[in-house]
Amino acid sequence: MAKMSKPRGKCAFCGRELTRGGMTRHLAACPERKEAIAAAEQAQGRRQQLHHLVAHDAGWGGYWLHLEMSGASNLFELDDYLRRIWLECCGHLSEFTTGGWGSRELSLRSKISTVLQPGTTLTHLYDFGTTSYTTIRSISVRRGKPLNEHPILLMARNNPLEFVCQECGQPATWLCTECIYEHEQDGLLCDTHAESHPHDDYGGPMPIVNSPRIGMCGYCGPAEPPY
Ligand SMILES: [Zn+2]
Ligand SMILES: [Zn+2]
Ligand SMILES: [Zn+2]
Ligand SMILES: [Zn+2]
Repeated sequence: MAKMSKPRGKCAFCGRELTRGGMTRHLAACPERKEAIAAAEQAQGRRQQLHHLVAHDAGWGGYWLHLEMSGASNLFELDDYLRRIWLECCGHLSEFTTGGWGSRELSLRSKISTVLQPGTTLTHLYDFGTTSYTTIRSISVRRGKPLNEHPILLMARNNPLEFVCQECGQPATWLCTECIYEHEQDGLLCDTHAESHPHDDYGGPMPIVNSPRIGMCGYCGPAEPPY
């Protein structure tokens, strides 16, 4: 599939559009995020360690999430979030590893503040057949009151990628994996060409959603955050 350069995404606080790396710098300085943090400090609730994490697909890296996660929650919550926003197709096994040489598996009960100190990188694997690899990087940690009542806050996410139909060059909204695996084509199709598409050995064209798992194991979304 054709890969474009550096997709942008929107800051959840101020709406500015930036690349994944630009967003890392922006979130540290965003005035509207600072206001939200100041407002939360005035409210009820316990102060705690809050971790700025970046998740991205381990290959190309164009699918990304900037998250703020409670240090007191655990890897199970992060696994659940990744499944729901990006990965879940049919309840495959998953695990977190420390990555690199001598990599070891981490228990899902591990607390975020113990396994994701700033500078740490973990790998998340979903499905040991058609595996999706996600890199989780810890950027920074702050002490304060969380900005929502959940373990994770979505601070930014890459915008949906723009694909073009292999038949006519119009925006593509469907993907045919049979084209990819059997015919060495992109498999990208507009609504019209998806409707008249002849392939159905792989279940026919599937809707394109904003997830690095498209085209894998029949994944068809919804690729929405759980909260
Ligand atoms: Zn912002
Ligand atoms: Zn599956
Ligand atoms: Zn078309
Ligand atoms: Zn096809």
